[in-house]
Amino acid sequence: MKIKNVETFPLLYKLPVPYGDANGYKKYRSCFLFKITTDSGIEGWGECADWLPTLEKGFHDRIIPYLLGKKATDRIQIVTTIKKWNKRSASGISMALTEIVAKSAGLSVCDLWGGKLRDSIPVYASFQSYTEKEDWINHSLKLIDQAICSGFNKIKVKIGGKRLQVDLAHIQSVQSMLEEKVQLALDANQSYDAATAREWDRYFRKWPNMLWIEEPIPMDRLEDYRLLRTNLSIRVAGGENLKSTANRWISRNHSSIPGFWHTELPSYI
Ligand SMILES: [Mg+2]
Repeated sequence: MKIKNVETFPLLYKLPVPYGDANGYKKYRSCFLFKITTDSGIEGWGECADWLPTLEKGFHDRIIPYLLGKKATDRIQIVTTIKKWNKRSASGISMALTEIVAKSAGLSVCDLWGGKLRDSIPVYASFQSYTEKEDWINHSLKLIDQAICSGFNKIKVKIGGKRLQVDLAHIQSVQSMLEEKVQLALDANQSYDAATAREWDRYFRKWPNMLWIEEPIPMDRLEDYRLLRTNLSIRVAGGENLKSTANRWISRNHSSIPGFWHTELPSYI
């Protein structure tokens, strides 16, 4: 089962209204998809993220010529090589080759990896709360209302992109709307120092529907995370900006941060 063809699909969507979080506004969304086809006609799709022209050139100049004619089942060997050139591309190719192996065995990827552990998992609606418009709070409330009406009972809202009092006014409006019937997580995207993060706690103590506060401070400040975990009355989450698995392991098992939750893991909800 050899790789016969690779097609790329660089997709770019310009947002009609830019939106964002504490890291700034996003003016577009992009996605790089590709389809690997084998000589037996089985297709596998991969996806990765980076600047689209870089990915497109990397695929057509180097990765596709390398892939053509290779055995689709040699996933580890192929990915190990491509990882040296571009780690993001390598993970997308791993995704596509895994799908091909699963399809050729007549299985889903889930069953290939050992089968499901649960029949359902909890999910939440996540919002990029800020826009450049004056009435961004009303816009935010409208989007949250739509999500609740469509059935979500957990939401995540951004903070840290405005002054504390402005963010607080926003979250108080959100809470009035939720009436404690919907659970709420807040994500500061590493924008506070520990003292500012702690200012939220007087409100957290009054709000029984709080799920967690996510990345209140920069992820490299483990000692400050330890203090926050001790001082805040709700869970502290983080992890998506830790660069390596080793880092995640260290922070997750940091003995002085009990109850530190990681945002990649669905089990923490
Ligand atoms: Mg986050």
